[in-house]
Amino acid sequence: MNGLDQLPPLRDVVARFEIAPKKSLGQNFLFDLNLTRKIARAAGPLEGLTVIEVGPGPGGLTRALLMEGAAKVIAIEPDTRCLAALAEIATACPGQLEIIAGDALALDMMALASQHGATAIVANLPYNVGTALLVKWLEADHWPPPIQRLVLMFQREVAERIVATPQQRADYGRLSVLCGWRSHARILFDVPASAFTPPPKITSSVVELVLNPQPLPCQLEDLVAVTKAAFAQRRKMLRQSLKGLGAAYPGFNPQSALENAGILPSQRAEEVPVEGFVQLARQLPGRD
Ligand code: SAM
Repeated sequence: MNGLDQLPPLRDVVARFEIAPKKSLGQNFLFDLNLTRKIARAAGPLEGLTVIEVGPGPGGLTRALLMEGAAKVIAIEPDTRCLAALAEIATACPGQLEIIAGDALALDMMALASQHGATAIVANLPYNVGTALLVKWLEADHWPPPIQRLVLMFQREVAERIVATPQQRADYGRLSVLCGWRSHARILFDVPASAFTPPPKITSSVVELVLNPQPLPCQLEDLVAVTKAAFAQRRKMLRQSLKGLGAAYPGFNPQSALENAGILPSQRAEEVPVEGFVQLARQLPGRD
């Protein structure tokens, strides 16, 4: 038993600690415990697990993660106004909530996870840094990572880019290739703007990314280089858009690299699946 049920409603907590939502920190809070518990369950089963939560704010999702059985939550929040509200949750569940006052972008999340035996990251991410955080986690140097699963809220439009394949050409891009290479990503459910305080202008989606311990082999920096060049001019044929790679990779020949990778040189970036980009990355000669 813990004291979570005795905690006051979140709206009262936010009023008492005067946590007026700040746009600069991407603060759109969730107060509905049914919804935060649904998100926590989506990350589950959590029994006995340690979870990292990015941006707990006043702690709505934090409470839900603990209620749904997480053995421990490590919560990272830069807004010092939220720390007292989070401390009340820590008091209600002794030893189960560790609060790190800081910026998640500046932290090595995978090192933190391995120190604590954390297996998942769950977050209602601030919109302004959500994509940067996801890219940083997926571009981790050491793979497989200690984390197995990410359950994250994004704007619907970003969620669609994360899960896109060449069939959804407008959404398919560098982010889709990175996510498709190192994870299996899917949209779990949408959350309407009205669920947030204050309501944002857009619909949000909860996305699950199950990290792939054994992605198709290629060097991360090579995959980043080919997708950057290919999608920078996404409407051009690849034999043209990849020409610029010669500066970093002397001797690189787009035509023969594409043919060796099984891609028609007349194809465009948005037509090539993840496996094609991996094969292409493997054709890059040693970097200058
Ligand atoms: N989890 C809470 C909820 O669901 O109600 C708050 C979510 S709110 C969309 C985003 C939270 O991320 C805010 O509490 C904000 O202060 C925090 N945040 C903003 N930038 C951050 C960063 N760089 N690192 C960690 N947290 C950040």
